[in-house]
Amino acid sequence: MPNRPVRTRIAPSPTGMMHIGTARTALFNFLYAKHTGGKFLLRIEDTDRERSTEANVEVIFEGMTWLGLEPDEPPVFQFARAARHREAAEAMLATGRAYKDYMTPEELESERELARAEGRVVRSPWRDLAPNDAADRPFVVRLKAPLDGETVIQDAVKGEVRFQNRQLDDLILLRTDGTPTYNLAVVVDDHEMEITHVIRGDDHLNNAARQTLIYQALGWEVPVWAHLPLIHGPDGAKLSKRHGAQAVSEFDEMGYLPETMRNYLARLGWGHGDDEIFSDAQAAAWFDIKDVVSAPARLDWDKLNHLNNHYIRQADPARLAGLAARHIHGVRPDDLKQIAHTIPFVRDGAKTTLDLADAVAFVLKTRPLELPEKTRAQLADGETGGRIGRLRSALGAVADWDVPGLEAALRAFAESDGVGMGKFGPQLRAILSGGAPAPDLAGTMTALGRQESLGRIDDALSLVT
Ligand code: GLU
Repeated sequence: MPNRPVRTRIAPSPTGMMHIGTARTALFNFLYAKHTGGKFLLRIEDTDRERSTEANVEVIFEGMTWLGLEPDEPPVFQFARAARHREAAEAMLATGRAYKDYMTPEELESERELARAEGRVVRSPWRDLAPNDAADRPFVVRLKAPLDGETVIQDAVKGEVRFQNRQLDDLILLRTDGTPTYNLAVVVDDHEMEITHVIRGDDHLNNAARQTLIYQALGWEVPVWAHLPLIHGPDGAKLSKRHGAQAVSEFDEMGYLPETMRNYLARLGWGHGDDEIFSDAQAAAWFDIKDVVSAPARLDWDKLNHLNNHYIRQADPARLAGLAARHIHGVRPDDLKQIAHTIPFVRDGAKTTLDLADAVAFVLKTRPLELPEKTRAQLADGETGGRIGRLRSALGAVADWDVPGLEAALRAFAESDGVGMGKFGPQLRAILSGGAPAPDLAGTMTALGRQESLGRIDDALSLVT
């Protein structure tokens, strides 16, 4: 364990989306830094110049901001550091820990075939030849890796992982055009960013062996490795599009809250006893790499929905109104207040902010509402029409237009009219909501307010008189 303040990082490549696995890795790095009082950093691995557009980089920034995982220092851009990567390769050349390999593509191809036939990795003859700077031929710079022995990774999640050095070829550090390779760039950047713990997906476990060899060649301290199992779909297969969603932005668009995602993703591969619901502060207080499990985690939509419902029930209605409004076509700025006012009456059953949008739709309808055919027919029969008329008068006299006041009024009316609620409740509900989903009657009328509620009832009555 490095005897330095903890510094972790997330190092995404800007490919145009932020995978939910990247979000989970970011969260674990973030939590570990918070847990230890260390720092959490962001490095954009933008060396693929075709994919690394400004827009794609922006997707990562937006994803991180949305998740509430702000780095503690300005982001580092890998491509801009290519000169530093080259310097490190040159330092290894100077100490004899790297060499220039002048093999032509044809020579490399025949060595590859030979190596395959002999069941060994590719070896360049230039490894043991004197440097040939004068040759004026293109070359790559390769690491002069040990030929035998083992490279041992002490992984904080996987335990000890051993690699036979004879199975690792001399990896390329600089290409013929002088550009640094991925593994070199990662090592130099992690070293210079003073990263103490490399926490990332276990698809990088093999890279850890190669990177260890580079650290050793440079005489640098190797960070603590922690390779996380990947996130799988509910069926156990690697998470992909067919499982419903894989990009952070998709979870946002589907109506999940960032606090839900933080809580949920923390539980994907890590746990604190049986705790399913916990705050950010608790997660930071509890999170330790040693409690990360090494089996793949499965995305469970039911659990995610359950958790989102929990956070929706806690969130500020004005904030939820803004989120729900994104899913409402033709919503006007004036509607936001009304939506926020309605949310407390409808949110208990909402799994997502999309559900919230559906649940508040009744309140945004404009008078006169289109009534369901069945309701119109019922109103036309004298008995129901008359009863709704008497109910209108009773409601008009309600002093306290709130849930208890309206519940009492409805009960009193049922008694005085000598019927059960079933004789007028469904009709009143349809009149108030136009057939859209709505909460219970008292909640619906409280959400609508006195004037709008009575107005909607009057509109309905005007159809029968
Ligand atoms: N850029 C790599 C990726 O997006 C991460 C490399 C690392 O974490 O070391 O998978």
